Amino acid sequence: MIASDDGGAQPDGSEIDGDREWMAHYHELLDRNSALAAALGACDCWGQHRRCPVCDGAGTPGWTLPDEELFATYVQPAVSTDTSRRTQKTPSTTDINERKEPDECPPTGLNQ
Ligand SMILES: [Zn+2]
Repeated sequence: MIASDDGGAQPDGSEIDGDREWMAHYHELLDRNSALAAALGACDCWGQHRRCPVCDGAGTPGWTLPDEELFATYVQPAVSTDTSRRTQKTPSTTDINERKEPDECPPTGLNQ
């Protein structure tokens, strides 16, 4: 946010509304960070602050048990999608290799 020189408030209150909007967005991001950290068993600082009063810098993902409900909300869907895409890739690669064989051995006309 850029602060204006005139104290910030416009006659129509638009600056104040903008500040409130940014603060609401900021708090939303803080809440999301906390939720994702809890979903992965990490500290809110993600173990990136050695002087963190909660984890002393040890709070990387897996630092504590993940919150089961938040894990199910934020992590499990991504893992499921990733797993399903990876399992779909293997058969399609095999299919492509199997389809190449007839192209590599064109009909020889032995049946004629
Ligand atoms: Zn921490």
